[in-house]
Amino acid sequence: MSQYIKMSALYAPTLKEDPNEAELASHRLLLRAGMIRRLAAGIYSYLPLAWRAIKKAEQIVREEMDAIGSQEILMPIVQPAELWHESGRWDDYGPELMRLTDRHDRAFALGPTHEEVITTLVKNELKSYKQLPVHMYQIQTKFRDEIRPRFGLLRGREFVMKDAYSFDVSEEALDKTYQAYKGAYERICERMRIDYRAVQADSGQIGGSETIEFMALAESGESDLLFCDCGFAADAEAATAGIQVESYKDGELLEEHTPNIKTIEGLAEFLHIKTRQTVKAMALIDSDGNKVLAFIPGSHELNEIKVSAVLGNNFRIMEDEDLQEASLVKGFIGPIGMKDRGIRTIADVSLKELPYWLVGANKADYHMSGATPGRDFDEPEYFDLALAQEGDSCPQCGHELQSARGIEISQIFKLGTKYSESLQAHFVDEDGEEKPFVMGCYGVGVSRSVAAVIEQYHDEYGIKWPVSIAPYEVSVIALSVDENIVFPVAEKLAQAFDDNGIDVVLDDRNERAGVKFADNDLMGFPYQVICGTRNIEKGQVELKDRHTGEKELIDIDKVVDYLSEKIKAQR
Ligand code: ATP
Ligand code: MG
Repeated sequence: MSQYIKMSALYAPTLKEDPNEAELASHRLLLRAGMIRRLAAGIYSYLPLAWRAIKKAEQIVREEMDAIGSQEILMPIVQPAELWHESGRWDDYGPELMRLTDRHDRAFALGPTHEEVITTLVKNELKSYKQLPVHMYQIQTKFRDEIRPRFGLLRGREFVMKDAYSFDVSEEALDKTYQAYKGAYERICERMRIDYRAVQADSGQIGGSETIEFMALAESGESDLLFCDCGFAADAEAATAGIQVESYKDGELLEEHTPNIKTIEGLAEFLHIKTRQTVKAMALIDSDGNKVLAFIPGSHELNEIKVSAVLGNNFRIMEDEDLQEASLVKGFIGPIGMKDRGIRTIADVSLKELPYWLVGANKADYHMSGATPGRDFDEPEYFDLALAQEGDSCPQCGHELQSARGIEISQIFKLGTKYSESLQAHFVDEDGEEKPFVMGCYGVGVSRSVAAVIEQYHDEYGIKWPVSIAPYEVSVIALSVDENIVFPVAEKLAQAFDDNGIDVVLDDRNERAGVKFADNDLMGFPYQVICGTRNIEKGQVELKDRHTGEKELIDIDKVVDYLSEKIKAQR
């Protein structure tokens, strides 16, 4: 017989006031409910309640990994720098990589991800196509020196991740493994009750071809998603959408007097036109230090990831000195005459369809309308440069895209041979030839998922845990503890829930009813069994559903079976 926990003994130091530093609900509520404490920026202790939720989330992930044949391992956190040099990521990963040196002055990294380690692990030991596929996972603390650690567990510098890696003989075989992970990731989201969308993403830092992000829908999310009724969904940064552009004036090149108009919005307002009838100029410096002008529809923003693909990762926006040096007038920059000045011009593909551009005249207070590429200025090079947005047309069906915000909770990648080639990890194929493994990698932010669940499940009073990851599924609340009527019943119920395998906490504290209700709502246990003198005298207790707020009276001898069944159906 196990011993259920009593609230009087539970270490959950609640806060009366909202902590100043917490902007988002999950951050605020985790702190207020005494579930996490900050040690340094982005570095937290998980107190008993949060840790129980995280362990339940881990267990869901573990079960779904085991179900697709992934094998659990645990790799070192401390990783020798040589591995990262071999893959090229010691430099590429940048300042997010936490680095340290040992007493012999050897350099190491604290693992932000484990492609290098696992590839080295299987290299020379996993040798034959007959052994493949092999895929393994671990659940472990990861380290990333985030530039802006914030929002509590959503963006930490130290956080819990499940990372998995797969080794296959070919792209086709990888696709099978990848689809199995996709299914597992969908089930993980569903079991945590996360309202999510699987979106096409950009493979960025990790490299590789195909990748999907699983996004928890939340206003507070840092990612912009675009989706369509046809089923298309993408991270806005990765989307290539159709952008509507329109000319302002057709025909000849005309000078337009636009005094003191320095922004696209100002220009559109001044001329009584839409922003999409204007062309926005972005003055940039590429990774090699060359000046470049990028033109995009005035209605849109620049997509930095797409620009990096053209100008290199270290491109930047021109500062005032750069503009001066290039004799460019802020607010009035245009493409005319740039070739003679030796400045490269690039433009978003959507502008290829625009015959007459409204652009800066390269002198203060003037724009030019009717500017035609090839006639009035040299044809720029066209690339996909603009950040897709709501209202653009869907690349799959052409309908208008809708937008939402999301929190990335997990991501799957087809890596291909990037790491097996750089780290020389080969197997011998059926035809006797040596080939690099075809790899995939798959990550779930476990601690972030728990915070994302809170973003989706809370109200003004506190957290509303879904049963599947609730630290406790029921709290039995004993009102007026010194009465010998209430306490024996509450204890008996708590014990009976415990015997039924339900995670139960008994609120046995010597506190006013109001305090108990407030704390239980804050901590967010899905069900409260409220034991008060008057109801007990009638042989009843009150059952409160934290999600709906509904209360019902139930016979004392029925409540345990009734609720246990309800809870087990939601696990
Ligand atoms: P982000 O774009 O949010 O920085 P990422 O794409 O760099 O995340 P991955 O490398 O895909 O992250 O890592 C796998 C998962 O680990 C992510 O989907 C996310 O849930 C989680 N994760 C990543 N960075 C953090 C962090 N700083 N704090 C908490 N969880 C994180
Ligand atoms: Mg990611």
